[in-house]
Formats: sequence, structure tokens, C-alpha cells
Amino acid sequence: LREDDVSSLLHPFTNAVAHGQIGPDVVVRGEGARIYDDAGREYIDAMSGLWAIGLGYSEERLINAATEQLKKLPYYHTFAHKSNPAAIKLGKALLSMLPVEMSKVIYTNSGSEAVDTAIKLAWYYWNAAGEPERVKIISRKRAYHGSNVASGSATGLTVMHGGFNLPFSQILHAECPHFWRYGEKGETEEEFSQRKADELEKLILEAGPTTIAAFIAEPVMGAGGVIVPPEGYFEKIQAVLDRYGILFISDEVICGFGRTGKMFGSETFGIRPDIMTFAKQLSSAYMPIGAVTVTEELYEKIASASNTRGVFGHGYTYSGHPVACAVALEALTIYQERDVVGHVAQSGAYFQQRLREFESHPLVGEVRGVGLIAAVELVADKRSKKLFDPFGKVNGRFAKLAYERGLITRALPASDSLGLCPPLFCTKSELDEIVDKFADTLEAVTEF
Ligand code: PMP
Repeated sequence: LREDDVSSLLHPFTNAVAHGQIGPDVVVRGEGARIYDDAGREYIDAMSGLWAIGLGYSEERLINAATEQLKKLPYYHTFAHKSNPAAIKLGKALLSMLPVEMSKVIYTNSGSEAVDTAIKLAWYYWNAAGEPERVKIISRKRAYHGSNVASGSATGLTVMHGGFNLPFSQILHAECPHFWRYGEKGETEEEFSQRKADELEKLILEAGPTTIAAFIAEPVMGAGGVIVPPEGYFEKIQAVLDRYGILFISDEVICGFGRTGKMFGSETFGIRPDIMTFAKQLSSAYMPIGAVTVTEELYEKIASASNTRGVFGHGYTYSGHPVACAVALEALTIYQERDVVGHVAQSGAYFQQRLREFESHPLVGEVRGVGLIAAVELVADKRSKKLFDPFGKVNGRFAKLAYERGLITRALPASDSLGLCPPLFCTKSELDEIVDKFADTLEAVTEF
């Protein structure tokens, strides 16, 4: 592969979506938490690709699961009640792991499709429930929920809207609950959370409570800056939603499967979702697959309406793809057998504690995170939290310097921060290596 092959075939599209994912252009091999480029250089991938390859780059059991399934049944569709054993087993396994009682699964090929599907499910439900005027979806500023028309609209990063006529008009964006950045002087986390819940209620009342179908949120906002919800946040948000009968869609695409130290982020933060979306670590990124789960109550309404209408007109050619399902089922089995929850609770606590060493560094405004997901936000002035000008300049430079030191981090949009999301079973010495390389990079960032 030559440099021009890469640029002539892929750019500008890959460039346009690359944001701050700075790393080798062409990766040829991976092993454990490490990737190797076409010149043989080694990097430790502290971002698990795109928050996805939780089991690392060389998990034999996932490779075998794919191979065995390919030999048995490489493909069959799941339209019109058709299915296959891998899809059925995966559905049962996924539902049995959830922190709330859910009874049905729809498969997709990605997180974006899962979010679009969740939004369509919410719409279909309200039509079936005799409240067709409930069409609006509330998301949050800075959240990333995908790139399709509905998920891209739910996304609250304006950089994803420009030129595409997005967001479409049924989407509203509530405020981002980043306490450190938006909290007022003297305000406690609880008070801040109450203020965010009050603002949400105001938004609902202005839009008309009976026009709102659902609220969508990630337990920890990932791409939007690894925003860990402040004390009491989801409890207060949930109370507002309950008051107006609004559905809660929990987007577990990043937080699912151990990332936050519990099996699901909804569990870590006491969310009671009606619909959940999954992808990425569902198959540890070895196959493209997403899923949406719903409660029995929602399903019953949807099913009874689709019986009268004759159809629930939604699905994909590869929904429930047997190879993707077999790999995902093996990934879930591994998470349980290797006790991902216990492991991340322990290694995550160590990782977070080591990252807090950076809090005293003059360039560091905030270190935040939970389990094995974190961000370090850089500031021009520590006391006033003043951002660098232009915004986003320094974290991009940092990610490049880290890359030169063999560390893959990510310059996140909408905050001058660096994301960290290492594979779930990184050893203590791998986590130390990530933190030490990060520390070296911090010392190297001198010119702005
Ligand atoms: N939801 C969240 C929370 C995500 O982080 C992402 C991807 N970064 C998506 C949805 C979209 O997933 P995909 O890229 O698989 O379409």
C-alpha cells in the first residue's frame, strides 16, 4: 500500500469523519491491546479502536466462533418471524443480563441503526397507544448517537449536522450535564442536577408534554467528552420523564458490557430504560452488529398494532446475521466467564486513581471517568478554566504527540479533552504504560 492509495481511495471521506482520531493511516495487524502499522511500528490502543474492541485484537475464541458459524450457516435472514439458532441464543443471553426486565430484541448492524430503530420503535409505540401526536425526541447537546438521519439528528454535536439539513425538526436538545464546566460558583452537584432536571422540564412544557415520545441518553456521554453524570442526575431526570409519561431510551453503545464497572451503564447510574441500544462491545467489534431491546409492555402494544396493520415495517437484510450473532454470543459468554464486572471494578479503580495524578498538572483542568472510560481536559488557565484559543487546537496536538510515543488516544470534539477507553482486560502493566505515556506526552506539550 502506498500513501497515494490511501489518499486517493479514501479521502476526503475518512478525513471528514476522522475528528481527533489520530493514529496510523493503515493498520495491518493487532494483538491484545496493541496495533501495528504498515511500517511495523507498534502502538498501545488506549481507545479500543472506536470505544469498541473490548476483548482486544487477538481473541481466539471469537475467531473460532465466527469460523464455526461460517461453516454451519453463513447467512439467513430474520424477516417475517424467521430466525437462526445463533440469533435466538444471543437474544436470550442478552435479555438475561439486562438490569431491567425486557422481553424482545431487534438486531441491527451498527449503533447508528440501533438508535434509529429505537426512535422508530418509540414512534410506532405511541401510534399504537393512540397518542400519535407524540413525535418529538429529546436528546442532549454534545451527545453522539450515530450518523444516520435519526441518530445523526439525535446527536448533539453540531459538527455532525452541518451540510446535511440535520437535525430534523422533531429533535430537541437538552443541556449537557457537565458539572465541572457548566456548574455555577458554590453550586453542589445535586443542585446542578436539579437545575438540569428543571431545564428539561421547562423544555418539555414549552414543546408540549403530549408531543414528546422519548428522551435518549448515554449513561456516560462518551464522544461528547466522557461526561459522567453528576450526583442524582438521572434520578431527577427520570422523575421529570415519569411525570409526563415520556419513554427513556438508554444508549449503551459505549457503556454496555462492563465498561463502567457494572455490566451496563444504566445499572451504574440507576436508569430505568424502556428501550436500550447496543453495538460495539456487543461483539467486541469482531463483527458489525447492534441490538435494541424493549420491555414487554412496549412490545405488546407494538405487536397488537402491527397485527391490525399487518406489518411492523422495519428491518435489515443482515438483522440477526448468524455469524455476527455467534461472535456476539461468544463475547457475552467471555464477559461472564472472565467476570468483566469484577475485573473492571478493580482495574478501573486503579486506572482512575492513576489518572488523577494529572490533576495537579498546570495544563489539566479536569480528569474524569468511571471504570475503564476516562477523559483528561486541557485548559489554558487552570483557575479560570479558560479554554485554549482556538478551541480544540491543543488536544489535537496532544493526540499527535501521544501517537509519536506509541499511544493512541482521541482528541474529543466539543471539549479540549483526550479520551481513554482501553480494552477491558488490559493488565496492570498495560494500564501503567498508558498512563506513563500520557504523562510523557503532557510534559512534551509546550508550544501552543
Ligand atoms: N451511540 C453511541 C453512544 C456511540 O458512541 C456510537 C458510535 N460512536 C453510536 C451510537 C453509533 O454507532 P455506530 O458507529 O456503530 O453506528
